[in-house]
Amino acid sequence: MLHKISLGTGDINKYRMVEARGTIDELVSLGEELKGLRVCHINSTPFGGGVAEMLVCYIPLVRSLGIKADWQIIRGDRRFFTITKGLHNALQGAPFEDIKKENIVSVYQNNNLANASELDPNYDVFIVNDPQPAALRHYLSQNKAKWIWRCHVDSSQPDKTVWNFLRPYIEEYDAAVFTTPKFIPKDLELAKIVTMAPAICAFSSKNMFIKRYVCRELVENLGFDTNRPLITQVSRFDRWKDPFGTIAAYKLAKMKIPGLQLALVGSFAPDDPEGWDLHAAISDEVNKDDDIFIFSNLTGVGSMEVNAFQRASDVIIQKSIREGFGLVVAEALWKETPVVAGNAGGIPLQMPGELGNYLVNSVEECAEKIVYLLEHPTVSQKLGKIGKEIVRQNFLFPRLIRDELKLIKSLVGK
Ligand code: UDP
Repeated sequence: MLHKISLGTGDINKYRMVEARGTIDELVSLGEELKGLRVCHINSTPFGGGVAEMLVCYIPLVRSLGIKADWQIIRGDRRFFTITKGLHNALQGAPFEDIKKENIVSVYQNNNLANASELDPNYDVFIVNDPQPAALRHYLSQNKAKWIWRCHVDSSQPDKTVWNFLRPYIEEYDAAVFTTPKFIPKDLELAKIVTMAPAICAFSSKNMFIKRYVCRELVENLGFDTNRPLITQVSRFDRWKDPFGTIAAYKLAKMKIPGLQLALVGSFAPDDPEGWDLHAAISDEVNKDDDIFIFSNLTGVGSMEVNAFQRASDVIIQKSIREGFGLVVAEALWKETPVVAGNAGGIPLQMPGELGNYLVNSVEECAEKIVYLLEHPTVSQKLGKIGKEIVRQNFLFPRLIRDELKLIKSLVGK
């Protein structure tokens, strides 16, 4: 059987401290209508990356509404995950190697077939995340559940061959979910296509309140000089996150702010075999400059430390060139830390109005905004406050759970 992640039951009422009362009441009543419904999320990794990050908190909260929510993880070897990372990149517009080459199609299909035979099928609704397990529905065509495909990447301009390969699998679903309307591929034909943005958990160890002096002590223990400015990028070791662009922007900014320090906090994920090579290449750069540091989940920098970095840094950078959503942006804004981020994919959704002045299209622009914010702390503080309110109103879990339960309700006919 596929691995089911062990999680308990949360408490949605905690959110009454930060959310409008109406949203929580609406959730409780949706929960009553759907009580006992068996819902299962499926993805390809229990840690590393935004989907896993969300499900860890999402499942306990949905359970607290009376729904029987679970999370199963598909299995695969390095070859399978190398192919699926290629599919992920291709959905975001990167050219894909010839799909007919070296059994790519059969490796993808055989792995999905094997996973389908090991899936616990006893659910009313399956939510399948991203391209890795997308063909499961095809191999379980007799299964009576409702099937939702949830796309977390920027699929607005997918590589044609890859999209033509994946599209028939996706069109077998009952519904598909995208983060924003512009990500919906034009030729996708499905009775129900909806959009909903991801969200963060206000109370997880990643986002819970930690006093600033503790955060500063934590980063100090990792070697930072807290009397000098610190900028941080938190992301998987992935080329779309543009870590070299971030380093280049830091170097430009350092010409104006000589004491500047840069932390690159990254994570490896078992379904992302490209991470190792990128980590090695970034480390080569880091070794040339005593004020750049690289950390990862393999050296003990976990959620609590990321939380501390996001609070102790003067500016958070997310210089992505493609980005499905970028939970890290919402995480930093929730902590009232200003963000300079790539004008890409789902990031602008999180940085409307005045925050939009800090969306950048080049290394030079990124450096310029970093310097401006470091030299104008009152502007930083103001942006931080605006950012927190945007997250509170739009990007916390109750809103996402409500959107998802409404979709589920429409599919199961309650
Ligand atoms: N993350 C982490 N440690 C790291 C790097 C990333 O915990 O060293 C988390 C980060 O805080 C965020 C998630 O991984 O919650 C990344 O999600 P995002 O949507 O930003 O990007 P994705 O990896 O899904 O492309």
